[in-house]
Amino acid sequence: MSDRCTDNQHKAEQYLSRFQEAPLGHLIEGKAVAGDRAPALENRTPIDGAVINSVGMGGKTEIDLAVEAATGAFAEWRTVSGAARRQLLHRIADAVEARAEEISLVESVDTGQAIRYMSKAAVRGADNFRFFADRAPSARDGLHLPAVNQLNYTVREPLGPVGVITPWNTPFMLSTWKIAPALAAGCTVIHKPAEWSPLTATLLAEIAHQAGLPAGVWNLVNGLGEVAGRALTEHPDVRAIAFVGGSETGRHIMSQGAQTLKRVHFELGGKNPVIVFADADLDRALDAVVFMIYSLNGERCTSSSRLLVQQSIHDEFVDALVSRVEQIKVGHPLDPATELGPLIHPDHHSKVCSYMAVGAEEGATVRVGGEALDKAGGCYFQPTLLTGVSSAMRVAQEEIFGPVLSVLPFDDEADALAQANAVDYGLAGYLWTRDVGRAHRVAEQMDAGMIWVNSENVRHLPTPFGGMKSSGIGRDGGDYSFDFYMETKNISVATTDHRVPRMGLTD
Ligand code: NAD
Repeated sequence: MSDRCTDNQHKAEQYLSRFQEAPLGHLIEGKAVAGDRAPALENRTPIDGAVINSVGMGGKTEIDLAVEAATGAFAEWRTVSGAARRQLLHRIADAVEARAEEISLVESVDTGQAIRYMSKAAVRGADNFRFFADRAPSARDGLHLPAVNQLNYTVREPLGPVGVITPWNTPFMLSTWKIAPALAAGCTVIHKPAEWSPLTATLLAEIAHQAGLPAGVWNLVNGLGEVAGRALTEHPDVRAIAFVGGSETGRHIMSQGAQTLKRVHFELGGKNPVIVFADADLDRALDAVVFMIYSLNGERCTSSSRLLVQQSIHDEFVDALVSRVEQIKVGHPLDPATELGPLIHPDHHSKVCSYMAVGAEEGATVRVGGEALDKAGGCYFQPTLLTGVSSAMRVAQEEIFGPVLSVLPFDDEADALAQANAVDYGLAGYLWTRDVGRAHRVAEQMDAGMIWVNSENVRHLPTPFGGMKSSGIGRDGGDYSFDFYMETKNISVATTDHRVPRMGLTD
């Protein structure tokens, strides 16, 4: 173990010690609510299975209190000027940056994500706050739509209290991505983080309050999805649910929210293709292919988990891939040299392992990896490359959400497109070619909400983020986020004494 790793471990222990004093609770109306009123769940690190802390699993009672607080705070928060909200959200961003080391070390131990990527978690989170902060003053602006004798204009107003439900992969960054625009729009928030990675959500909510956010504007309830999450989605006073997680959970949430006609925004799973044509810059394509499946432990919604490679370069490209995948450094997530850390939880680890038998039964070949790594009880799994995969196989259809890449050969453009689109998902797509015409043609026909040409996933915050088919409903980013968190109202004013149709007159 390197000195840097040991040093990070010592620091992490110090940051984590506060969580060990009592079961982690909730934050409702600006006050800490003890976690020991509810059954507790042991929160373990995937590094070696050791208990980090225990977390009180809130339920309907805590959700009801949080919604009451958010409803009360909304009356005031919606009237706060955009300029004042901008200032406050920038203060939150400053405070996030000031605690960047703590956030990244805690997140790394809680999730198993390598510190080389998590060290940017706080910066990305702060960027999200700054981006939406700057747009807060114009969030309510609408359109001017003149008609003959009528002046129409639209305004937007915040929806009200909204629920935000987040998953365990990159939980800090994702929470900021959902919560910052809600606050900038003037909504109040009830956040239910994932039970497998609860720690940085508490840091974030705490930071927001220390930065001056009024009580009740942001409430946090820890708990199980089927209990606290369900109560949140069924609550009549919650106007919308912004959800990031699995497609099956999305289906549950949609039906749970049906009685109260919940507005929903879903960012769900993916089985994203990366298409590499023979004419591509193969060195750069190789870098991107490796990065987009093996970084973040493969636990990434936009990971390119299906490599579609043109038959004529298949063997050469796969050989190059094999040597890169074999050299990926698996290890302790706090070691800066580590590229792949342990998977989030033993249950998820078992799920990823189980796909090896599924692939073998279907006739896929394990070219690299394919096995759990025995490292002191940690949830480690080898970076894995499956070849000889065809579209109908489950390893080509289902989201494994781990460091497993399935390789599928294709003949020509039409074949590549048919295979790329032959899944239920449609989140992201990547394609590599030097043929400009083909790049546009293929991009236009791919079933995906986001397509990168000759690039890995590079985010630009004003652009729409989201998926089609089973990958989601709605878009985040830029003004798209405000459209979700706000109600658009049209106001129509007569500019002349036009003729109003008359009824009920005597002849
Ligand atoms: P998950 O769906 O199991 O859980 C996500 C959240 O939903 C958790 O907080 C959980 O407690 C809650 N939940 C579970 N059941 C619920 C219910 N019945 N009602 C209300 N809430 C409930 O997902 P996960 O395993 O935590 O995360 C991995 C998934 O998230 C993957 O499928 C991944 O692709 C997806 N994801 C998508 C995006 C995106 O932007 N499209 C981003 C990150 C992750």
